[in-house]
Amino acid sequence: MDLALHRAVAFPSLVYRPRRPEQEVLHTIVRDHYETFRAQAAGRREGQGLPRFVERAFEDFLSCGCLAAGFVRFRCAACRHERLVACSCKGRAFCPSCGGRRMTERAAHLVEYVFPDVPVRQWVLTLPPRVRYVLAWDHALCRAVVAVYMRAVLGWLRQQARARGVRDGRGGAVVIVQRFGSALNLNVHLHAMVMDGVFTRDGRRDVRFHAARHPIAPDVTPLLVTLAKRIGRLMARHGVSDGAECVDVADPWVEETPSLAGLAAASVRGVAALGPRAGLSVRRCGDPVVVPESTAQREWHARLYGFDLHAGIAVRAGARDRLERLCRYALRPAVGQERLRLSPDGQVALELRRRWVNGTTHLVFDPVELLERLAALVPRPRINLVLYHGVLAPRAAWRSAIVPAQAADDGHESGMAGECRHKRVGRRPNWGWAELMERSFGYDVLACPQCAGRMTLVALIRDAAVIARILRHLHLPDAVPVMRPAREPPLPLDIDAEPVWASGG
Ligand SMILES: [Zn+2]
Ligand SMILES: [Zn+2]
Repeated sequence: MDLALHRAVAFPSLVYRPRRPEQEVLHTIVRDHYETFRAQAAGRREGQGLPRFVERAFEDFLSCGCLAAGFVRFRCAACRHERLVACSCKGRAFCPSCGGRRMTERAAHLVEYVFPDVPVRQWVLTLPPRVRYVLAWDHALCRAVVAVYMRAVLGWLRQQARARGVRDGRGGAVVIVQRFGSALNLNVHLHAMVMDGVFTRDGRRDVRFHAARHPIAPDVTPLLVTLAKRIGRLMARHGVSDGAECVDVADPWVEETPSLAGLAAASVRGVAALGPRAGLSVRRCGDPVVVPESTAQREWHARLYGFDLHAGIAVRAGARDRLERLCRYALRPAVGQERLRLSPDGQVALELRRRWVNGTTHLVFDPVELLERLAALVPRPRINLVLYHGVLAPRAAWRSAIVPAQAADDGHESGMAGECRHKRVGRRPNWGWAELMERSFGYDVLACPQCAGRMTLVALIRDAAVIARILRHLHLPDAVPVMRPAREPPLPLDIDAEPVWASGG
């Protein structure tokens, strides 16, 4: 269902909770600076602006969670209390609330309906900048890289099993393509949730799991050597040069949409593409201390020719909550709303989730610079960023014997929780929307705040005249947010000025 709860208000008692200022930061930046960014991205070249799917992502985001753009009415059957819930944008790139909801749904789905109760290890493969750039646009090639990656890891697990006398073992994994790095830079990398062992089949129905031994450095390094070689060959076959420069002459991305390709290339390199800071790296704040990598981390970690493979995080069988948290981490949205701050001089600070090894704790963006990064993160429409491999692949022969639900997810995004139709006696039939919201927000959204009753959906209101009438009657704002016109020429910016931050929060 297409809803955002956190901006809900209730009536007739009119429980109206104003949003906290930090929740508004991203909306404010998009509303005030998007048109300026769009004009700068188009430059002087007619018809060479941002592609439509990127423009749509920003336009839809502006009205996401805004009652004036449409809402759903819920009513309590017992006391007639009503609640309005605003519609959401369903954005896949940077909307923090839609991204958070999608993360919750998918993680719940993977744990309930995809992974059997066996140990799962996370293998993270990071790629050289040139490869990141190419894969961000060429999704077919991205899937081919994922296939190479999984053949190597699942093959290694099979080999491990064979060495211990387990013949014909088969492994499986779910690979999550993450497009962003911690600086909101375009960094396509692969989080693979790999079942830590192999299955064998005795007779027609019974499958057995054989746990792997833990990979240690001498294993991770040769595996990465193999991966680097195979991915390098794959790139060469597709005419991708291994030069340091991101954009070359025969670049299909540049041919199709030069403005977005330019933003993406700059984002991969970690520099601004537009405005007075073009070509400069993002500004960093923090104490210049060096945080060393722990010995335990090093053991599971290999680095080579710009590739990086990390296999240090595993979840034992039975730890389903931990597995769900790990899935959420891999599926998380690029921007956490609570980590953005707007300074009085209009700059944006992003607090990093984890301090970088060079001590950086915050990054400082000019608003247009931030929008550049967000634009580069928008995935092309209809591409699937969650891919199933081995025995978990959609048509794998053993899949039905291994996944927890019989009529399980078909391995496509359309079949994800909230819409899927799992039927198995003794299990929950489906992840209801309210249940998912409870997982996200920590309370039951269909519980009536006035009595012990349950609320049910009454109507979806999308007609502008009806929306305005209801909201005015309730004395709620009925204006749909609009983008502020572009400022031309761009505001001068003192790039050496020390940013001043709003306190609190
Ligand atoms: Zn009630
Ligand atoms: Zn949204």
